[in-house]
Amino acid sequence: MAQTHPIYGRIDGPIVIIGFGSIGKGTWPLIERHFDYDADKLVVIEPDPAQANFLRQHRLHHVQEALTPENYRDVLGRLLVPGKGFCVNLSVDTSSLDLMRFCREIGVPYIDTVVEPWAGYYFGTADNAARTNYALRQAVRDEKAKNPGGTTAVSCCGANPGMVSWFVKEALLTLARDTGHDASTPKDRAAWAALMRDLGVKGVHIAERDTQARRVPRPRGVFVNTWSVEGFIAEGFQPAELGWGTHEPWFPENGYRHDSGCQAAIWLDRPGAITRVHSWCPTPGPQFGFLVTHNEAISISDYYTVGQGAAPAYRPTCHYAYHPCDDAVLSLHEMFGSGRAQEKHHILTEDEIVEGIDELGVLLYGHEKNALWFGSRLSNAETRDLAPYQNATGLQVTSAVLAGMVWALENPNAGLVEADEMDHARCLTVQRPYLGPVEAHYTDWTPLQDRWELFPEDIDPEEPWAFRNVLAS
Ligand code: NAD
Repeated sequence: MAQTHPIYGRIDGPIVIIGFGSIGKGTWPLIERHFDYDADKLVVIEPDPAQANFLRQHRLHHVQEALTPENYRDVLGRLLVPGKGFCVNLSVDTSSLDLMRFCREIGVPYIDTVVEPWAGYYFGTADNAARTNYALRQAVRDEKAKNPGGTTAVSCCGANPGMVSWFVKEALLTLARDTGHDASTPKDRAAWAALMRDLGVKGVHIAERDTQARRVPRPRGVFVNTWSVEGFIAEGFQPAELGWGTHEPWFPENGYRHDSGCQAAIWLDRPGAITRVHSWCPTPGPQFGFLVTHNEAISISDYYTVGQGAAPAYRPTCHYAYHPCDDAVLSLHEMFGSGRAQEKHHILTEDEIVEGIDELGVLLYGHEKNALWFGSRLSNAETRDLAPYQNATGLQVTSAVLAGMVWALENPNAGLVEADEMDHARCLTVQRPYLGPVEAHYTDWTPLQDRWELFPEDIDPEEPWAFRNVLAS
């Protein structure tokens, strides 16, 4: 029997998808499935000729051109119609800020999955503070402050950043219920922050284990990943960053604060993809993750702050603890060991992956039940039954884009927002059919456990959840 899928609304006017890599290609079938729109008004901007065949076979209009600071107003101005349609930015090397600003100027709803800069930004300066996600995000927050309200532009609405912010809220309500607190949904940001504080949450890991694997071993000299290799190399070479919580009794020697902006985060003078942290996921239990910088580490710490600035009354620590697929770990090892990035890149497809899941959730720690992991444990096998042209990692991202688009259509004048500022329940209702098992797991693990006692480390036995203990030496 043919499957039926809910139609969430009508999009009048052109839908412009910028970038047709692993995420763009996976988002398109969800748009096709869940919106009523004129198919001949959908256009893909994609400079890579390798995608041209697929686009032609599926009769998708294609502009084979790279957006640049010089041409983006012309190219988008030709394709978009003021006050109509949707701009879906799933590219690398384009400025999210410039594109969303232009879309808001002409009244076209906009969505992206990271705050992406124009090409050259990530490696174009030796000033590490300027290469942080803090700087990129703060520019978007400044734009929001300068131009409040107006046409909705959703910033950073993929899996992480994105969906994990909705998981934090669901995890807080679960924890409230399980510990006898008031579990009614808070009405505004301040009430959410007060709930997190009152539950005693000291921090949040975005705790991910990707076990997707193919049959053949990784060839030497090829960077293999389950999503954008270019995107992962870029963020992996940015300094490690984390939202810095008020419970931290220590400050890292290579750590730096920011003088302006929300001041919710710090950065370490070391690339994130070789900065290891102790963390926990349901499948492996304790594991090492990489402290790769991500927008959500900053946005979540900022959103749940009680008070403001550098010395608030309460703020959770928040950071990514990412164990990518094993082939990506080996790729990182080879890249950092040789001092240069591999020239060949490969994104594992749903057809070649023979086993594995992407286990992506949030680990809320430091409260009376110690730690709670809440997240999606989507397998590649299930993904193949749910949606075409993507692996499990992709579907967690593309279904968040779908949820963000639905929310934007239902809230057309919400201004510039991040996932933390959206209705998490509505977004998860749209997204959940694509997430496989979504589960809550309590654990009594802390970063003080499972250490190698023959080599004593400089740890803080008084505060198990201090970042000093989480950071691997
Ligand atoms: P990808 O590398 O597979 O595809 C990116 C596409 O952008 C490529 O096809 C490339 O040709 C195109 N592109 C490059 N320069 C361009 C330009 N100047 N103008 C227009 N298009 C251009 O990457 P992906 O895995 O599809 O990821 C896309 C974006 O989504 C990246 O920014 C990535 O960081 C982000 N992402 C976010 C999440 C999340 O959970 N928030 C997860 C995965 C990816």
